[in-house]
Amino acid sequence: MTPLNFDNIFVRELPGDPSDAPHVRQVHGAFYSRVKPTPVRDPQLLAWSHEVADALGLSEADVRSPDFAAVFGGNASMPGMEPYSACYGGHQFGNWAGQLGDGRAITLGEAINSRGERLELQLKGAGPTPYSRRADGRAVLRSSIREFLCSEAMHHLGVPTTRALSIVTTGEGVVRDMFYDGNPRVEPGAVVCRVAPSFIRFGNFELFAARGDEDNLRRLVDFTIARDFPGLVEPSGQRRAAWFRTVCESTATLVAHWMRVGFVHGVMNTDNMSILGLTIDYGPYGWIDNFDPDWTPNTTDAGGRRYRFGHQPRVAHWNLLQLANALFPVFGEVGPLQDGLRRFAEVYEEQSRRMNADKLGLVALRDEDLPEFDTLHRLLTGAELDMTIFFRILSELDGVGEALAGGMIGIDTGTGAVDAADVVASNGHVTATGGAGAEWVSRFEPAAYSAARFEENAQALANWLAWYRARVAEEGRPADARRRQMKAVNPRFVLRNYLAQQAIDAAEQGDAGTVVELLDVMRRPYDEQPERAVYAERRPDWARNRAGCSMLSCSS
Ligand code: AMP
Ligand code: MG
Repeated sequence: MTPLNFDNIFVRELPGDPSDAPHVRQVHGAFYSRVKPTPVRDPQLLAWSHEVADALGLSEADVRSPDFAAVFGGNASMPGMEPYSACYGGHQFGNWAGQLGDGRAITLGEAINSRGERLELQLKGAGPTPYSRRADGRAVLRSSIREFLCSEAMHHLGVPTTRALSIVTTGEGVVRDMFYDGNPRVEPGAVVCRVAPSFIRFGNFELFAARGDEDNLRRLVDFTIARDFPGLVEPSGQRRAAWFRTVCESTATLVAHWMRVGFVHGVMNTDNMSILGLTIDYGPYGWIDNFDPDWTPNTTDAGGRRYRFGHQPRVAHWNLLQLANALFPVFGEVGPLQDGLRRFAEVYEEQSRRMNADKLGLVALRDEDLPEFDTLHRLLTGAELDMTIFFRILSELDGVGEALAGGMIGIDTGTGAVDAADVVASNGHVTATGGAGAEWVSRFEPAAYSAARFEENAQALANWLAWYRARVAEEGRPADARRRQMKAVNPRFVLRNYLAQQAIDAAEQGDAGTVVELLDVMRRPYDEQPERAVYAERRPDWARNRAGCSMLSCSS
């Protein structure tokens, strides 16, 4: 296999655990423990990402060689690799959980590619580590496929994320009780190799802070800035403040993207928050089918719905607040930390406004447009419309912005927001005039999950479309430009939960073809790909309440 050029700064510059024993323990005063992957019975390559292989300088022949499956299944090493698991803590579901660490992740090394980029290679599911607590360090095929496909899908959607190089099946079984209900079963095991410039999480900082280890906390801050934020040009006295601000800004941008594409992370614990603002740790995540801000895919979260779709911006802010608290001893003053948190709110607002304007094909969303955007959200929820399909159809409407005689619409906007519920209640009173909107309503049927709910909300939709038409007309831009703008942010294809589950079902039966096909579809999520229309359809009825499609757990 083509050799990789490793430059393992993390283990070179930072103190590690003096013991390399494998047993589970609390590790103090160290950033990591050296640990080797545990070999597996029969490592076989199941799928790989050619873009990530390219970025690493690995050819197809490299990837298809038995050496590759051996290395990325955990049975062999390449020259220059220095495997370790990182030590970190975290807040889980709002509570401080103490030391967590890489319980089943093992970093192999930091590869420097031909462009000088740092790509840390990390195996997930490679066996026990000192941080495995009571678990086995392994991962099942279903969750590995989910992580692999979603990392790549997110990247192609333009959402910041860790990447995935490969899935290697292990030929070994892993026992999991999927819903923690006393029904364990043996599932096929797998190892994913994921790739990112850095896997440092909020929780790495929090653990040193919680233990009062200020020296190592400071060291971690300065190390992270030097290695992972080389672009910060502020004079050294201001660099830490600029760094925290950047972390807040990139986290805000990240969450704005999640909301744009309908992604629900499902377990936004602070150990699952990347310092680089990447989507990290794909577990019980899900995609919004019918638009519902209260939906959480994670059955473990069903009680409090802390990680529901619409709550993600608040949770991100709360997580940053925990990071700010952890950093306080190094900063010694609250000002820069408060500034950063304020930046989170500002950037989230700016970014989501920008993205929502693009979703609607408008030059800008003005303050007075915001209530209409809220109305649309209530309408999508009330009418049970598919988020992805709705916006795609919206971008395809013909004649939007044309021939709106007099520009008059009948919505009473005098009170600000038109509440969808009110519009429905006053059905027949609040109507679009001049036919604006009404003729388009039926175009949205393919997005509807319930004929009855669609019918009930048809008038409200007509009204909203009338507003929309008038608003687009007001900007007076060419239809083409609007359509291009919308299609660049409203994907036609997202990794719907049921699609991933179908690929998993096939792979568990020994057919990896659907995984490869889905990966290929998700490479061009904004393109029409007419021959692949089947992947753009709304969730079928059978998937509504099926495990893996609408219900997921942390068991993986
Ligand atoms: P997660 O919710 O997936 O981020 O996991 C929370 C913590 O549990 C992390 O420290 C993981 O490394 C650890 N963990 C999850 N699953 C396993 C497993 N099968 N074996 C060992 N550790 C695990
Ligand atoms: Mg995690």
